[in-house]
Amino acid sequence: MKYLDVPAGRVPLPAFFPDATYAAVRAADFASVESAGLFGCEMNSYHLMTKPGAKLIKSLGGLHGFSGYRGAILTDSGGFQLYSLIRENPAYGEIRDREIIFRPDGGREKLTFTPEKCIQAQFQYGSDVMMALDMCTHPDDPPEVQRASVERTVAWSRRCRAEFDKLCAGRERRPLLFGIVQGGADSDLRRECGERLEEIGFDGYGFGGWPLGANGEFRADVLRMAADAMPDGKVKYAMGLGRPEEIVACVGMGYTLFDCVIPTREARHQRLYVFAEGCETPEGVRRPDGRFYRFHYAMDEKHARDPRPVDEHCGCELCRNHSRAYLHHLFKVGDPSAQRLATAHNLRFYGRLMELLRDE
Ligand SMILES: [Zn+2]
Repeated sequence: MKYLDVPAGRVPLPAFFPDATYAAVRAADFASVESAGLFGCEMNSYHLMTKPGAKLIKSLGGLHGFSGYRGAILTDSGGFQLYSLIRENPAYGEIRDREIIFRPDGGREKLTFTPEKCIQAQFQYGSDVMMALDMCTHPDDPPEVQRASVERTVAWSRRCRAEFDKLCAGRERRPLLFGIVQGGADSDLRRECGERLEEIGFDGYGFGGWPLGANGEFRADVLRMAADAMPDGKVKYAMGLGRPEEIVACVGMGYTLFDCVIPTREARHQRLYVFAEGCETPEGVRRPDGRFYRFHYAMDEKHARDPRPVDEHCGCELCRNHSRAYLHHLFKVGDPSAQRLATAHNLRFYGRLMELLRDE
């Protein structure tokens, strides 16, 4: 698949969507997402439900109208945040077969989150790509937990699909709905989950679970297992990934859609991506050792008097207009434009990486 067509327009694949958790990319604006050559953003259902609320967003024209963003908007189901909060502290609620009970203050107030509500909220947001509710696990969870997660994920996905079809009735341009493949590190269970989701039928399939091992290492084996379990000919979405070399590895497995906080977070921490010498090519980024880029540490003293741009081949606002010395200075005096310019640069690096990965 070369493109993903959504109500907001056409997204060339592979695509990277920066995370705009609260409908805003931290330290950036949507203009810098667009000029980075990125075609969409990922936004978080649960966070937006708490602030400013799905009803308010709907009354202002959905996330597109509310934020003014014209690119593709993908929203998650919100289940992952609830799951993480409850896993951390059981006082926050419980996950049942039919719904998730959530107690945001750990006490009296009780919220019931169902697959139907998950889809209704994403329609209120006017999302272009919606995610079905799944039950997340950790790769190290015991087999009975993995089995239960697949059973619940399949049952919830079916209910999401039914609600989605109901709400799509009569619409001219319908959004897309993705299912999420669970099954931990068990390839049989992953395959079973993929097959059962394919029977229900989705526009794309997401990688469910943690992509990292206990020591933060990239679990390529689990990602490959999940990609193999997803039907070919549909978008395979590596949710929450990743570092540049992880994205390249995942494209090799068949994934074509990514979202992650990494490039924007690294920028705010003064780490800027720069292609290694001679590596800004389709072959270069596919180097087997994955070392096709290096970091520019903006605060290194050696940059204090350097008149050159961070990357002379980069067309971002920072590299076109400013020197390494000036960025160093902006970070040093704590000017907010330092984070903004560094973020625009890292977004452009990811945009360029996607272009190179599309260039066969
Ligand atoms: Zn740049």
